[in-house]
Amino acid sequence: MEKSYDPKQVETRWYRTWSERGYFHASVETEGRPYVIVIPPPNITGSLHMGHALNNTVQDILIRWRRMQGLNALWVPGTDHAGIATQNVVEKQLLAEGSSRDKLGRDRFVQRVWEWKAQSGGTIIEQLKRLGSSCDWDRLRFTMDEGLSKAVREVFVRLHEDKLIYRGKRLINWCPRCLTALSDIEVEHEETTGKLYHIRYPLTDDSATHLTVATTRPETMLGDTGVAVHPEDPRYNRLIGKSVALPLTQRRIPIVGDPILVDREFGTGAVKITPAHDFNDFESGLRHNLARLAVFDQHARMDASGMREAQVDAALQERLASQPVKKARALVVEALEQGGFLAKVEDHAMALGKCYRCKTAVEPYLSPQWFVKIQPLAEPAIKAVESGQIRLIPEQWTNNYLGWMRDIKDWCISRQIWWGHQIPAWYCRHCNTEAILETASPKSVTITSDARPIVARTAPDHCPDCGQHDFVRDPDVLDTWFSSALWPFSTLGWPDQTPELKKFYPTSTLVTGFDILFFWVARMIMMGLKFMGPVPFQDVYIHALVRDAEGQKMSKSKGNVIDPLAVMDKYGTDALRFTLAAMASPGRDIKLSEERIEGYRNFANKLWNAARFILMNLDGPRAEAPLAERPIADRWITSRLHRCIGDVNRSLEEYRFDEAANAVYHFIWHEYCDWYLELAKPALAEKDSVQAAHTRATLVESFETVLRLLHPFMPFITEEIWQAIPHTGESIMVAPYPSQSTALIDEDIESQIASVTSVVSATRNIRGTQGIAPSRELRVSVATPTAVVTGTLTANVSLITSLGKMSDLVLGTYIKPYDTGASSSITFRGGGIGEVQVDLAGLIDVGKETARIEKRLKELAAQMEQDEKKLSKPDFVAKVPPDVLKKTQARHDECRAEHDKLSGELKRLQEMAGGPS
Ligand SMILES: [Zn+2]
Ligand SMILES: [Zn+2]
Repeated sequence: MEKSYDPKQVETRWYRTWSERGYFHASVETEGRPYVIVIPPPNITGSLHMGHALNNTVQDILIRWRRMQGLNALWVPGTDHAGIATQNVVEKQLLAEGSSRDKLGRDRFVQRVWEWKAQSGGTIIEQLKRLGSSCDWDRLRFTMDEGLSKAVREVFVRLHEDKLIYRGKRLINWCPRCLTALSDIEVEHEETTGKLYHIRYPLTDDSATHLTVATTRPETMLGDTGVAVHPEDPRYNRLIGKSVALPLTQRRIPIVGDPILVDREFGTGAVKITPAHDFNDFESGLRHNLARLAVFDQHARMDASGMREAQVDAALQERLASQPVKKARALVVEALEQGGFLAKVEDHAMALGKCYRCKTAVEPYLSPQWFVKIQPLAEPAIKAVESGQIRLIPEQWTNNYLGWMRDIKDWCISRQIWWGHQIPAWYCRHCNTEAILETASPKSVTITSDARPIVARTAPDHCPDCGQHDFVRDPDVLDTWFSSALWPFSTLGWPDQTPELKKFYPTSTLVTGFDILFFWVARMIMMGLKFMGPVPFQDVYIHALVRDAEGQKMSKSKGNVIDPLAVMDKYGTDALRFTLAAMASPGRDIKLSEERIEGYRNFANKLWNAARFILMNLDGPRAEAPLAERPIADRWITSRLHRCIGDVNRSLEEYRFDEAANAVYHFIWHEYCDWYLELAKPALAEKDSVQAAHTRATLVESFETVLRLLHPFMPFITEEIWQAIPHTGESIMVAPYPSQSTALIDEDIESQIASVTSVVSATRNIRGTQGIAPSRELRVSVATPTAVVTGTLTANVSLITSLGKMSDLVLGTYIKPYDTGASSSITFRGGGIGEVQVDLAGLIDVGKETARIEKRLKELAAQMEQDEKKLSKPDFVAKVPPDVLKKTQARHDECRAEHDKLSGELKRLQEMAGGPS
């Protein structure tokens, strides 16, 4: 083995070997219970970030663990076509070339996106391989590949047949920049301060009397088709049935009573109804049969024909034409004021909806769209979680899920973009002449809500009504999440009844971030239940976000992004994976710092050095005798190892990746390396003894087992070392995972070694604080709490004296102070041990040591005074950057601790010097 570990060449070499040998592939023919995970398909526009790194590390740990346990483990990989995101990327490229999607036309544009995908769409896949992901790459899928497109059409047609998909003119969330509909959860809400405008609407039968309405959107009042009051409001209820003259227009609109729309306490208690521009008004309009007048166009600009239809005053129409929302608002308010209609304006807190892609303010927009009627699909999906058929982990997410599902709204699935699954609906030109609006340049088709669609798996041959053959296809594409909702079964070949589908559905575990719980997970559950019957997966493990060390969200603008690729270059992939696993506590965000990753890189090096030590000590025969015949240290490490194996397996069963990683870390570092390799030395020193042969066997057995235990977390270094030490099998990846043997756990041996290591630790501690060189031998006496402990220690005297480098060890429940003088010994209390005394006679120079401590105490006092002065100044605390303040406080605490410790030692030294001689 090389002197130091070089991750780069090892990682590339092993990943290629595993892949070439087909270890990643899961076959339907393989025996064994299947264990299946489908990957959350990353966007083809994506590049690996820490969120991906965490998500895929967790999946790979589960898959490698289950594979080693002998399950037929399948991890299905793939990518998502990511409709709007991908279209935006290619549109930007076109813009830079002086072209545009309109110039290209639909077919050539879509062709261009496919070309882009062929060149750049595989980046993220290569990065996932770099992370060590053991996906079955033979089964790589893409949400727009042929098979998945077939599944999408099948689902669409069947839902339509079941009357669960409909097309209708509805108010939808609309991004006036992306020019597409957005689903409710694609709208981000931002708190802001707006204004509440009080506007007087004169009664038609008494123009001296007004009904004053309060609104935050005065510019949409031109599209009002009613005014609502509460039917039980004594101020207004006599007005119900009358009408008002809508200011700035030539229209009269009715006053209606609507207890659902009107909150008597809000504003004036009277509100305008604008069904074409507000969701609640839209519903109220349906209840009262009010017309919908849209006065804004798709770009959120005042629409000339809409204003004509709304009979807006001619002069105002001219001034408003094509004005954007903000400008239109100012002009309308100005006109209201001039006409004496504006009663009052006040500040008002409100939530503003923004497009999650481009942050443009979202407008409610009336347009023909496709919807999934969701209630009938949601009900079984609620039951599946309530009944425990699907488990959300951590459990706290269950209430979120249920709450959202019980209040779910119909899902708008059409998007007005070109990249995606085009909706399988056609319109007969002959039967829909009025409803199909086509323009030549740029070429575009608009289908009004009056058109009658023919929904089919393939283009219809002839119109069932008129028999003609001339069709227009619906230009909209489906929401990206429509295809990913089918992912657990479409990737396995559905709608065909493939052997894969039979073998691997339902899948076992889904690993995801909470941010896509509703976008994706809920919809997979609904679709899985509807089209497959059984739930799509049993466990949903929901992991947290990866933030920076201060708990801030990582972002390019803040400059606090830790790039997983750079980290893998610098510290190795295993270190990154182990860090993410060790920090994955349920329900808590990960505060990632480079120091942590560096720490686990050191852990990898520790493992490497242990391997080198073991290899150097394997010279000679290995006797694999029954455990009871082996040295106590060997029996101890075997017992501890099997405890650790139990902990790791249990923690992984419970998705406690942090506990599993920390258990194996603690075992390797603090028990195996710190103690066992030390405890083994005395036996190994007698090279030709039976003891040495036993210990060599134990070294190999235990270390080989540890490597297998660690493999799912650190796949690369464990394989490299495993191949170098004695083993059976061709790769650790396909070797069996350790399982606990409780028969090997020996409490008595464990407590014996605990006593031994406590005594050794205690003497080492004294050595450290007294500055005694490691090479100098000590005279030690130990007062034990019981005769049993005395017996235990007596049985292990040679181990203790060898590890503690002692020339003399006295044991007993009572010990006398060393007669070299009371002043020359100190005491130390170790865990359950009693008292450890080290004879210091001749080992330290009291005068010199006193001087050294006094000098250091002075330095510390000065530093503390300086820091205290700073920290007592309010100015300093308020103005310095938080990390400087933190550092100052930490330094002060450290100085204080060192000062206390040294003061104690000084006191002891003085007692020693001043005591009887
Ligand atoms: Zn947008
Ligand atoms: Zn027809």
